[in-house]
Amino acid sequence: MAKLHIFNAGPCLLPQVAIDNAIEALRDFKGTGVSLISISHRTKGWEETMDECRALWKELLNIPDTHEVVFLGGGASMEFLYVAMNYLEKKAGYLDTGVWAHKALKEAQGLGEAVAVACSKDRNYCYIPKGYEIPTDLDYFHITTNNTIYGTEIRTDIDCPVPLIADMSSDILTRKVDVSKYALIYGGAQKNAGPAGVAFAIIRKDSLGKVSRYIPTMLDYRVHIDKQSMFNTPPVFPIFVMNETLKWLKSVGGIEAIQVQDEKKAEILYAEIDRNTMFRGTADKADRSIMNVCFVMAEGYEDKQDEFMEFAKSRDIVGIKGHRSVGGFRASIYNACTLEDVQALVDCMQEFEKKNA
Ligand SMILES: *Cc1c(COP(=O)(O)O)cnc(C)c1O
Repeated sequence: MAKLHIFNAGPCLLPQVAIDNAIEALRDFKGTGVSLISISHRTKGWEETMDECRALWKELLNIPDTHEVVFLGGGASMEFLYVAMNYLEKKAGYLDTGVWAHKALKEAQGLGEAVAVACSKDRNYCYIPKGYEIPTDLDYFHITTNNTIYGTEIRTDIDCPVPLIADMSSDILTRKVDVSKYALIYGGAQKNAGPAGVAFAIIRKDSLGKVSRYIPTMLDYRVHIDKQSMFNTPPVFPIFVMNETLKWLKSVGGIEAIQVQDEKKAEILYAEIDRNTMFRGTADKADRSIMNVCFVMAEGYEDKQDEFMEFAKSRDIVGIKGHRSVGGFRASIYNACTLEDVQALVDCMQEFEKKNA
């Protein structure tokens, strides 16, 4: 089979070495003769994997001692609930920048008062609101740093007068983050950190324990910190692959190196979208995501959409269909996606233009 260029939005492309090592571990976990999915999670070999994974998160993201990393089931969507359970006492504020941000807000509204401080729905979430003021009476302010569906991103660590909480599902491990500015950073692994089935949380320990409600055991971040993510059976397979993904990231030079490559990939693709007469980007230029590149057929070429999709498929390009709420195309160019993959898409767009424009 020809090598495919995979642009899936999540679950997505992971480094081949992580996939290969996962296959080997499914056969034989660390030479024990037992499959990864049959070992006890209390064996020493597994605890070493957990420790290694935690240590890699801390090393790669330069996480200070004030914060702890935990691994959870339930995905980012479950963490929408964790956030409200662990932090909402009187009132929370959310930056409503897309479907995921809105779902996070709704989950908090089920437990108390939560408001949208600013919202970009008026233009189908194609930009990040600016010039809003964060009220100082909030328990926390919640942002979604990368809006996977709309291709917008907050790529700086904002100043915030109240505890800052960020869903970084789709841009974690793609840039240096000043973790000390956040009470909590969380997300599902399946966009840059590993396969589906595990979520992560980077928690400032002293930000917890400030709410008066009863928190169900499994939804209490303190329990997972105390038990080092082993309160119950951890999702061993996704954590194993996440660890392999982080090892790969370290081997290619860590965040500093991947950030250069990620920005370069995005630059090349956006440059083509802006140059090519047949396509146009949907997100405001100032807020464009480095991870999810959204574009549509330009005016006059709307009827060519299906044809381009077929053309791309014939060039071994897969996963570029846009989310139904935006339409058009979305190329997700996460860490494991290479410059060659992006170049293949750019070449394909140029050929299509030559044929049609
Ligand atoms: C994919 C995604 C989610 C949902 O993640 P699940 O793990 O499927 O619950 C939440 N937020 C963002 C920004 C996402 O990209």
